[in-house]
Amino acid sequence: MATKVAVVTGANKGIGFAIVRGLCKRFDGDVYLTSRNIERGKKAINDLEKEGLKPKYHQLDVTDKQSLEVFRDYIQKKYGGIDILVNNAGIAFGRNSTEPVAVQAEQTILGNYFALVTTSEILNPILKNGARVVNVSSSYAHLSNIPSLALREKLKDEKLSVEGLSALMQEYVEAAKQGTHAADWGNSSLVVAKVGVTALSNIHQRLLSSRDIKVNSVHPGFVDTDMSSHNGPMTIDEGAAAPLYVALDAPDSLRGQLVWFDKQVVPW
Ligand code: NDP
Repeated sequence: MATKVAVVTGANKGIGFAIVRGLCKRFDGDVYLTSRNIERGKKAINDLEKEGLKPKYHQLDVTDKQSLEVFRDYIQKKYGGIDILVNNAGIAFGRNSTEPVAVQAEQTILGNYFALVTTSEILNPILKNGARVVNVSSSYAHLSNIPSLALREKLKDEKLSVEGLSALMQEYVEAAKQGTHAADWGNSSLVVAKVGVTALSNIHQRLLSSRDIKVNSVHPGFVDTDMSSHNGPMTIDEGAAAPLYVALDAPDSLRGQLVWFDKQVVPW
């Protein structure tokens, strides 16, 4: 039988690193630790090898179409497709960042939402039938964090397309550039980006159901990583627990849901 394969993006450190560690221990197949920076990725591989684990490595920048295409072709040739895809890579500006709101909005939406759109366009076609996709989202993704009721209705509309959702995300970026975003969208770019990630997961679930593919988004908890400026109380392995549950243990009936760090489904 063909070797199964699991892929984790942004896995050279933090929660993604711990997800690779957990998959190496429990997944019956090859596990790819991917990173945008080869040196940082190889160091992470080295650290896991010292623990007796055997992750595989490939470069992957989720904002770089060419990098994604090279990775897709490599995986397709070697394995015929992907069994588990954990879209973990993400960026955030620190609370004390002095970057203008317009810059934070554009880069946060690009690094979290549009990166996932591009990744999905390139990698979803090689997901194997029955595959699982785990999109690492956030508690910020809860729809109640968006002030405008009209926007909430649009975001959860079952007929919303990827193009329609991307247009909404772009509207937010333009509003942030004009300084008119706060009343409708609120004051956090990361909220908008992660709401976008969860809305996109829901659309992908609808599009991929006919191939028995499960797509869910996960809030990993508040975790001690560079992104949280090490303020989160949870360890990276605790933060990896819910993504690993959704990737490996959840029933096949779990589809298009937002799963909290305690493994409970939270109504969006
Ligand atoms: P870290 O900052 O520790 O790790 C983020 C990872 O993403 C790094 O490996 C980083 O690589 C990688 N990355 C960023 N941009 C790209 C890119 N373009 N291509 C490939 N990799 C990229 O953060 P966390 O581990 O905390 O975050 C992981 C996920 O969990 C994120 O999606 C985050 O939003 C989410 N999350 C985290 C929470 C927390 O409390 N920590 C809470 C809720 C959600 P590099 O080292 O090169 O920068």
